[in-house]
Amino acid sequence: MIKIDQALCDLCGTCVGVCPVDCMAMSDKILEIDEDTCISCKFCIQVCPMEALSEGESHEA
Ligand code: SF4
Ligand code: SF4
Repeated sequence: MIKIDQALCDLCGTCVGVCPVDCMAMSDKILEIDEDTCISCKFCIQVCPMEALSEGESHEA
């Protein structure tokens, strides 16, 4: 499960563009991930320039 730090995210859209299953969506002020569709490939984490994405449930609480 991918965690979004909304405070860091500047809605650049880079992650949305790389998601292979197209489960990320941006509305006006917020980025959302459809967790049922996400395959945890972590591509979005790697491309985010703001480091706003992280893998939830693994290390940090
Ligand atoms: S981990 Fe992969 S499938 Fe999940 S939201 Fe990120 S890019 Fe999409
Ligand atoms: S790549 Fe990072 S900063 Fe850009 S929209 Fe995605 S989470 Fe937000």
